[in-house]
Amino acid sequence: MSYAKKPRKIALVGIGKIARDQHVPALAASPDWELAATVSRKGSVEGIEAHEDFDGFLEARPDIGVVSLCLPPQPRFDYAKKALLARRHVMLEKPPGQTLAEVHELERLAAKQGVTLYASWHSRMAAGVAAARSRLVERVVQDVRITWKEDVRKWHPGQDWVFAPGGMGVMDPGINALSILTEILPEPVHLVAAELEFPENRDTPIAARLEFSGHVSAVFDWRQEGPQTWDIEIETNKGPLALREGGARLEVDGAEQELLDHPGEYPSLYARMAELVGRGESDVDLAPMIHVADAMTLGRRVTVAPFEF
Ligand code: NAP
Repeated sequence: MSYAKKPRKIALVGIGKIARDQHVPALAASPDWELAATVSRKGSVEGIEAHEDFDGFLEARPDIGVVSLCLPPQPRFDYAKKALLARRHVMLEKPPGQTLAEVHELERLAAKQGVTLYASWHSRMAAGVAAARSRLVERVVQDVRITWKEDVRKWHPGQDWVFAPGGMGVMDPGINALSILTEILPEPVHLVAAELEFPENRDTPIAARLEFSGHVSAVFDWRQEGPQTWDIEIETNKGPLALREGGARLEVDGAEQELLDHPGEYPSLYARMAELVGRGESDVDLAPMIHVADAMTLGRRVTVAPFEF
């Protein structure tokens, strides 16, 4: 007789790029979860019960107690609110919403309903992040330079929502860097200045330069073709540290560190969600999104060439 725990049923909502690239494989490999249904207007996953309408799904499958929302941020609040009102545990893709107040409202509702809300930050689960955090505890951080430059056409092909209000523009990848920054720094920092480049035909920035207290700065750019750059370079009183490739690689004092046995970002997120649901807890850290909201508030706007996919 096996005493292995039965996997919990979960539904994936919004079957698009990230659901297919990461959520479906992570769930398929997880001992904690059984992908029991999908909800998407057009998308589906072969062999899995597919719903097109979220209200219909909530009514039809009360036995599925957990939903993971892989939608863009703009429609996410309405889905999350419905799920929480129906007493489902909810996992949110990053960024957790369009606005901070939306997410505070979801947090309040989850507590009232006695269910878990997990605002996930996949980059925090990258292989080098926990090790970087523990190294920095022993050091004084003197200077941080973030360079996050990628090709929007490659990572968000034809996704006009990223340039629509609430889509955050280049802050959509930039918030990944900020999620790492806010995880690893021993002391918090705050934004002091920003310059945001808006294509003349779009509502969100395509590039940004951010300056924080504590000698921390960031450059985000969505127009980088060829090699992509996701680096965080840190000077400390005991020598340099660098996280490269979005946190997948860690250098300490110029030497590449061996990072053993890492399950991957999305498997780690789903393990964390299983832990939260098991303990009856929520995890909603809005620190990365506060920096983005501050940049939108404080940033000087520069108009640049129009952008088409
Ligand atoms: P996506 O493919 O454009 O959208 C996901 C799915 O959501 C779509 O296929 C669509 O499915 C549904 N959807 C889109 N707009 C909707 C609306 N207005 N109302 C209801 N459903 C809607 O986006 P994605 O790239 O997967 O990104 C989703 C989230 O994951 C974003 O917050 C993003 O930041 C995050 N993320 C993306 C990546 C990436 O590489 N793209 C990486 C990490 C995290 P149906 O048409 O079938 O309903």
